[in-house]
Amino acid sequence: MDVIRTVAELRARVALWRRAGEGVAVVPTMGALHAGHLSLVEEARRRAARVIVTLFVNPKQFNNPADLKSYPRTEESDRAVLAPLGVDVLFAPDSEEVYPRGFATNVSESGLSEGLCGAHRPGHFDGVSTVVAKLFLMTGANVAIFGEKDWQQLQIVRRMAADLNIPVDIVSMPTVREADGLALSSRNARLSPAQRAAAACLPRALETASAALAKGAALEPTLAAARAAILAGGYARVDYLELRDGASLAPLDAAAPGARLLAAAWLEEVRLIDNLAVS
Ligand code: AMP
Repeated sequence: MDVIRTVAELRARVALWRRAGEGVAVVPTMGALHAGHLSLVEEARRRAARVIVTLFVNPKQFNNPADLKSYPRTEESDRAVLAPLGVDVLFAPDSEEVYPRGFATNVSESGLSEGLCGAHRPGHFDGVSTVVAKLFLMTGANVAIFGEKDWQQLQIVRRMAADLNIPVDIVSMPTVREADGLALSSRNARLSPAQRAAAACLPRALETASAALAKGAALEPTLAAARAAILAGGYARVDYLELRDGASLAPLDAAAPGARLLAAAWLEEVRLIDNLAVS
């Protein structure tokens, strides 16, 4: 696996592959890799002859400077984890390579990004859309793999790539979870042992609410019980817990085909998100 830090070198490498008729898959990440990321890499391997993993902690998508500062940066161990997986290139540019002096263009999706995390993290999805569009154009990948863990992001990326006619297939992979149900996340590393033990009450509350809604329970009392369970389990605050259509993200008032529960909640200063199908 080669580590490439400049767009020029990346483009030269991809051009060689393209001349040989090889397909290219990209897996965008912010590093601190875990088994969730690795499931995306494995899918990339299945989908294309060449695989690029990108590692870039994108300052534009952090609305909170403290969160950006404390985001784990573990490039050396990330390289070690990726080495045996058949990744061709780790593209790990620095901030100036991605946002050179004078950078002044933003990609802004203005529908799907409005509620949920968009309402609580101003500018976050503009940062995501901008960097993902740039990574698609820098890599020229024909396939990109994203996790369902970031469900709203996944829908926004699909919309953005379609709206901008970027010729890339967006493939999604299910959320990889710990044995107790907690979704793997780079932010889990910031949890104390006590917080880590408490964290799984979020997916448990989603499971319980999802099962109740699927059986026809009324929405508001079911969501209220789930919020109460999350707070009783040790979370300090619930940013949102909502039932939405999985594709359009339109609010729903009852279970329906394609419905999804989405939630974000704070364990002290660590904000975790999760989502679950309601079938
Ligand atoms: P991040 O490094 O957090 O920006 O995530 C990079 C990619 O990994 C995104 O497409 C995420 O949705 C995906 N991802 C993060 N956590 C998980 C997980 N637990 N299971 C599957 N994919 C994940």
